[in-house]
Amino acid sequence: MSLGWSRRAPVDTLVSTETELDFSIPLAELPRVSHELTSRDGEARGHVRFSRQLGQAVADLEVSAQPEVVCQRCMQPMRWPVKLQSRVALVSDYDAADRVPEGLEVFLVEADSVSVRDLVDEEIMLAMPHVPRHDEDSECARRKVQLPGQPEEPEDASDSQVQKPFAQLGELLKRK
Ligand SMILES: [Zn+2]
Repeated sequence: MSLGWSRRAPVDTLVSTETELDFSIPLAELPRVSHELTSRDGEARGHVRFSRQLGQAVADLEVSAQPEVVCQRCMQPMRWPVKLQSRVALVSDYDAADRVPEGLEVFLVEADSVSVRDLVDEEIMLAMPHVPRHDEDSECARRKVQLPGQPEEPEDASDSQVQKPFAQLGELLKRK
C-alpha cells in the first residue's frame, strides 16, 4: 500500500503488507519536537519498515536529523545531531507494553493506527538531551559565562564575605 509520512494507517495493514517508506519530514511538522526548537528549519530523514516479529507488530526505524536547540551554558543556538536506528514495538495498551521483549522500544498506538510522523516525533524526542550543551572541549566550555543575576566569581565573593564580618566585628569591639 502507498503511505505518506503524515498519514495514519492501521497497524495491522502496515505490518501484514510489510510497508516500507523513505521519508524526509520537515522538523516543523513534528508536533512535539517542533516545540523544542529555536529554529524550525531542517528535516528528519530516514527509512521505516513495518513487519511482524514473533507475533509482535514492529517498526524498524532509521532517522537522522540536526535539530537546533539552545546550549544551556552559553545560551547560543547549536545543532544537536540525532542519528538513530531502533526497533519499535507498536502496542495498543499498557498490558501489551509489558509483554514486549527486551531490546525493543515501545510505542503506544492510538486507535490501532499510526503515522510515520508520530513515530519519528517520539524517537527524536527520546534522543534529545534534557539539558543541551556544547561539547566539553568546545569554546563554550572553556569560557566562563557570567549570567545576569548570578553571584560574582568565587574569589571575589569570598574576599568580600570573609573580610566584611571581621571588619564589622572590629567596629563593634571598638564601641564597647
Ligand atoms: Zn554553549
